[in-house]
Amino acid sequence: PPLYKQRYQFIKDLVGKYKPKKVADLGCADCTLLWMLKFCSCIEVLAGLDICENVMKEKMHRLSPLPGDYLQPAERSLTVTLHHGSVAHKDPCMCGFDLITCIELIEHLEESELEKFPEVVFGFMAPTMVVITTPNSEFNPLLPGVTFFRHPDHKFEWNRAEFQSWALGIARCYDYSVEFTGVGPPPTGMEHVGFCTQIGVFVRKYSQTSESVHFEKPTKAAYKTVFKAVY
Ligand code: SAM
Repeated sequence: PPLYKQRYQFIKDLVGKYKPKKVADLGCADCTLLWMLKFCSCIEVLAGLDICENVMKEKMHRLSPLPGDYLQPAERSLTVTLHHGSVAHKDPCMCGFDLITCIELIEHLEESELEKFPEVVFGFMAPTMVVITTPNSEFNPLLPGVTFFRHPDHKFEWNRAEFQSWALGIARCYDYSVEFTGVGPPPTGMEHVGFCTQIGVFVRKYSQTSESVHFEKPTKAAYKTVFKAVY
């Protein structure tokens, strides 16, 4: 399967394993991952955030309930919300989540946004789990036609050491553990380059009641809600 599907499948598998109730996707683009996750019966709240309102609106009708969703007796409630805004800004609507995913997002952030990202996501949103995926630059020589970056909008592409030292620094600072894996395995004989997409899976070490929620968060809304569906 294509790489983007392998990344989405990785998240679906994680959802199947940990059964989060509240899941948010940052940099959700055309909401394909959210659309896939709406079929996971454990999820009661789904939220998306993107800085580009147009790309989010392209296919968002897919997130609306179908007539059949009303005919079936609802076994669970599901609320899907899309927000227009930046991961560099704090908004209380992103607090209290079990899982937050950032799929191929960080390499699109400007330096100033990347600097704010850890405090916003790990300090403020502080979900139980965070998954971050980004290209592994060590794999690039194996990709036909890639001479510099994989995409012209990428601000950087990190090798495994660069990504891991950034992620470990965040984990230490915000009291999370982190484990590294990936999708898109290297071909036989090229195992030393690692996965095509590198992935960090962060798990919060402290329990929510102690430090985080509603404590130092009288923050005002910064995002604009562009879509909401209640099943
Ligand atoms: N996660 C999707 C996926 O895996 O297919 C889309 C990844 S796309 C390469 C990166 C997305 O991040 C774009 O939709 C872009 O608009 C969004 N983005 C870039 N900067 C952002 C920011 N500061 N805050 C929120 N989203 C941002």
